[in-house]
Amino acid sequence: MKSITVGEVEITSLTDVEGAFFRLDQIFPGVPLDQWEPYFQRYPWAFSDQQTLLGRVGSYLLRLPGRTILVDTGVGPGGMGMHGKLLEDLESTGVKPEDINTVFLTHLHGDHLGWSVKPDGEPIFSEARYVTQAVEWEMSAPYLGAAVTGLDDLGVLDLLDGEESLSDELTAIPTPGHSPGHTSLLVSSGGEQALVAGDAIVHPAQATEPTWNIHFDMDKEQSAFTREMLLGWLEADDIPVAAGHIPGTGFGRIVREKTEPGRRYWQRLETTLDLENIPSGMILPEEANRES
Ligand SMILES: [Zn+2]
Repeated sequence: MKSITVGEVEITSLTDVEGAFFRLDQIFPGVPLDQWEPYFQRYPWAFSDQQTLLGRVGSYLLRLPGRTILVDTGVGPGGMGMHGKLLEDLESTGVKPEDINTVFLTHLHGDHLGWSVKPDGEPIFSEARYVTQAVEWEMSAPYLGAAVTGLDDLGVLDLLDGEESLSDELTAIPTPGHSPGHTSLLVSSGGEQALVAGDAIVHPAQATEPTWNIHFDMDKEQSAFTREMLLGWLEADDIPVAAGHIPGTGFGRIVREKTEPGRRYWQRLETTLDLENIPSGMILPEEANRES
């Protein structure tokens, strides 16, 4: 089980697709290749080779007492030329599509909404309210065509206006830049917290290099600003993060090295099961020694 618990909330990582999708100079066009060198050493599991990212399109399943939430719905049956396996991965957790009460869409890019509606326009999660930020909907809906516009016609769409509480445990927090209405989801329960970050953080190297924007960050300046703010908060409050584009489960913490110059890093959180399944050469010493 690829899960962490936050008080009474269980967060499970689901993967739609994972693989070598992008060359580094395509996905991070502003970053010279030689600047990646330290990160090849530190995060070998996040690269396919020294020119290519190992990427993932993931979702998170949140199980609260009496409520089941899916955050993002992947590339879908044909996005990026691949057939996503999100629904199979969901089923392996014992959850059926009709068990989902809320589908929370961090933003409306094609790799986050693929399994939202069937080809006939009916919602795949038949009992769910679909939730996203109003500004995101207004800016994106004209371009999305049949992918999600049917949700509004069906009356199953709820639009947020900035920061909003969805329940005692869940708060939608705007994290704009990657897209105008990009929104992360803060989980709070039993005195613990975690953040499902969406695309505000897509690669572990960004913990150290918050100004490294990806090609798909629509407003680069805003995106870097949001990322810096977010990283500072996550580090200060030691809040675990769920990042759907980071390989494996995408669970991590923002930590700072104790010796000078005291850079900030991503520390991967994997379950015991995952650690056993990862070839030992891919585990960093700090992670192998860490409690699971
Ligand atoms: Zn994305």
